Order: sequence, then structure tokens, then C-alpha cells
Amino acid sequence: MSFKHGDSMNPIEPLIFEKSSPGRRGFTFPACDVSEKPVMNLLPQNMLRTQETKLPEVSEVDVVRHFTRISQLNFCVDTNFYPLGSCTMKYNPKVNEDAARMEGFTKLHPYQPVGQCQGALKLLYDFEQMLKDISGMSAFTLQPAAGAHGELTGMLIIRAYMEKKGETRHKIMVPDSAHGTNPASAALCGYEVEAIPSNAEGLVDIKKLKDSFTRDTAALMITNPNTLGLFEKDIVEICTIVHDAGGLVYCDGANMNALMGIARPGDMGVDILHLNLHKTFSTPHGGGGPGAGPIGVTEELRPFLPVPRIEVSAAEKTMVGENGRSPLCSDLFHLKYNYPDSIGRVRAFYGHAGMIIRAYTYLLSLGKEGVCKAGEYAVLNANYLRHKLKEYYDIPYGKTCMHEFVISAKRQKGKGVSALDIAKKLLDYGFHAPTIYFPLIVEESMMIEPTETESRETLDAFADAMIRIATDIEQRPEVVHNTPQTTPIGRPDEVRAAREPKLRWEKR
Ligand SMILES: *Cc1c(COP(=O)(O)O)cnc(C)c1O
Repeated sequence: MSFKHGDSMNPIEPLIFEKSSPGRRGFTFPACDVSEKPVMNLLPQNMLRTQETKLPEVSEVDVVRHFTRISQLNFCVDTNFYPLGSCTMKYNPKVNEDAARMEGFTKLHPYQPVGQCQGALKLLYDFEQMLKDISGMSAFTLQPAAGAHGELTGMLIIRAYMEKKGETRHKIMVPDSAHGTNPASAALCGYEVEAIPSNAEGLVDIKKLKDSFTRDTAALMITNPNTLGLFEKDIVEICTIVHDAGGLVYCDGANMNALMGIARPGDMGVDILHLNLHKTFSTPHGGGGPGAGPIGVTEELRPFLPVPRIEVSAAEKTMVGENGRSPLCSDLFHLKYNYPDSIGRVRAFYGHAGMIIRAYTYLLSLGKEGVCKAGEYAVLNANYLRHKLKEYYDIPYGKTCMHEFVISAKRQKGKGVSALDIAKKLLDYGFHAPTIYFPLIVEESMMIEPTETESRETLDAFADAMIRIATDIEQRPEVVHNTPQTTPIGRPDEVRAAREPKLRWEKR
């Protein structure tokens, strides 16, 4: 396990304040060899403290050990397998971090004159060209800070586009298997959300779509591959139905890992697409840190994209290389704000530039062939696991899958063990749980996404753990209850933990 502190030690990590010992210091300065003046004589009265600071007094090693231990209480992809479906928890290569930490980037100020930021602008510009190549869309904005933010940006573009055409459409259609952010983004933008039920194959029901996509519906939000890990094989027909009714197709591209380098949503007829750099393009996830959810649009929707746009001066366009990449010279790139139909800004400056540097590094280090291989291995790994588990768990949809698959613990539930119990038990085997209870259309669902970065040995070890759990449930279900046993905390009351967080570590 990743979070052992050493068995002889108390697993309780106190608060840093509780480690405080009067007079203990991280470092001390040598005695001053010039005359000192009290701080009261140097600062205005109103800036002086009236109460003592209640900071902990600790040594450097106390601080380092404290935070290192806390960091090890987290389950992370750098220590263990993390098959969290839909989230694409692939390993993030460290070379991405090296590139993002280069001083030429970290020391840039966003208000610096563009003439001094040509390198960074070139990177953003070139990255947009790469996303266009991969997705088949005509233009991208890199501003949105997450997938959900990309969805909101997309919805705002749809609204602006419909208004410009003088149409008032009130509804957005969303399949019942969609990620919760989809209906939320549409609703936040003032749309009424209508769910389309999936058919027996787990795909969008074409007939129902045809019947219910009326002149009052602005767009269909579709996820492809969908959240069951299945490719919406009728996507071209789906786009035609929507377009014939005057609507737009928004594609949630969070699952682009399965398609990248192989098929392009732009070629399928999609009008707007978001990508998650923190999933498909190997930038760090979560922890409250920045993500990035660029959105790509068709030529028709380009005028509505957020500003500023990074552009190459027309006269200098001839200098852009044949492959669409540009050479570097002093004033090639500029920021253009003059787009009268633009929805405006959606993020300060140009989005989370540091994330874009990481994703750009990832794409350059993979190259065209590597991007394609990553997609293929993601699909291969998922099918390998699916095949190994199919005798032990119900898999309600599909015979093969894309980059992920959804099992149902319905059979196990019959023995009194839920998907949640299985998820917790996996922690005792050193694995993060799959996504559970999503998508909502599968009872006791567990959504498994191994990603391309895992070796066959890791996949086998995970499959063995899942099989062992299934066998235990048949023979002695009690061992799967009351788990995990090996982690620093067991099973908190999740609702209460969120409402009344108790930050002090306590022995169980
Ligand atoms: C992750 C995900 C989202 C939302 O992306 P965030 O970056 O978490 O906001 C939307 N749809 C699907 C299918 C996803 O997997």
C-alpha cells in the first residue's frame, strides 16, 4: 500500500499545530552585526500586530515529514492502479512537468507585450492546430478551465448562434446515460433539458430522437464513445437528424482517449466538441488544481468563440509551415479581440496555459503514431480486462467495448454485497475503485477504465483481485463487508464527512 507510515509508528498524523514546541525553528539567522531597531519604530502603529501569531513552532524536518506523510495518505496514479471510469486516470509523464517548469514560461507575465511572448503564443497557436488535426474541428478555444466549463462555453455559443439566426429554441436533448455535467451545463445556460432513453444496446434510440427533436430544440448533447464505453455507431445519422431539424450537435469528448488518432468527431458531423486535457492529454487531475477543457467548433461557429483569439498576421501567414505549424519570429502572433459575435471571455487571459504546455509536450513526445497507439492500447486494455471479468460479473451492454466498460454488481448484490462494498474491498488489494453508481442506467454499476499506460501485469493483478472478490462473495460474503481494513481510515459516513469535516486524524 502507498500509505504505510511504518508499523511501529502511530498511524495518526497530528495537526502541525500539535507538533509545535516553543522555540523550535526551521532555520536561524546568525547574530546581527549592525545595531537593531525595534519593529515598532519601523512600521506605522496600525500595521502592528496586537495579538501573537498562532503559528506552529517546528523544525524543517518536522515540516517536511508532516507534509510528506499527509501527501502519502492520498491514493494517486503515481503509486497505484486507478481504473476510475470516465476519468481516464492515465499516468502523466514527468517530461510534461519539466516543460511546464521552464523559466521562459513560468516567469512570463500575462500582461507582458505580445512581442515578448511570441514563444508562448506560438505554443498555444500550435497546440490549437494539433487539436484541430486530432478532432477534425475548424477552430478551438483553449480558455475553458474544465470539461464542464467547456460544456457551458459550448452552450453559450449555441445560444448566441441561435439568437443571431433569430431563433428561439428552449430545449437541449441529453441521453439518459450522460455525465451529470451535461444537463447541468445546459440548465445553467437557461435551457430546458429533455432526456432521451437509451435503447436495448445502450445507444441513442434513433427513432425516439427523430420523434422528439423538434424546432424547439437547440441541440443534442451526445457523448461518444458514450459512458457505457460504447461507440455511437449511428453518429452520422444522428447528426443528420439534428441538422435537418435546424439544431446543433454538441459532443462531450471526455472519452476522446478511445478515438484519438483513429477517428475524428469533426468528420462525423459534430458542431461543437470539448476535450479534457486532464484526461486524454495527460495533464494532472483534480485536487482542486487547474484542468483545461478546450472546445472545438465548425467554421460556421468560429465567430462566436471567446476572445482573445491568437492569430498569425495575414501578411505573415505565408510563413506558416506546410504542416500548419509555424516558424518563430518576433511579431508573428498577436491577440485579436475584434469579433463582434464572440460570447466574450470565459477565463482570465488565455486559460490555464501551464496545462496546455503539459498537453503540448505530451503530444510532441508521442507524435502522430504514438497518439494513435495510445488510443489503440486504451481500447485493447479495456477489452482484455472485460474479457477476464465477464464470467464473474454481469456486463449488461455490448460484446466488446471502447476504452472502458461497465459491469453490474447485481448478482453480488443478491448475496448482500454492493458495488460500494466491492469498491472498498479493492483498496485492501492496493487498487483504487472504478467509478461506481454511474452511469445511472446500470444497476450497481462499476465503470472500469484501465487506460493505455498500464502493463499486462497490472491488469492481471487487478483482474485477480476482482475475481477473488467475486469468489469470496459466493463463498464467504462476510469478508467483503466492513472493508477496507488496511487503509488509515476505514469507511467514513460520506454524507457527514462532507458536511462536518473533521480534520484531525483519529485512531480507529
Ligand atoms: C469528466 C467528464 C466530464 C466533465 O469534465 P470535468 O473536467 O470534470 O469538468 C464530462 N463528461 C464526461 C463524459 C466526463 O467523463
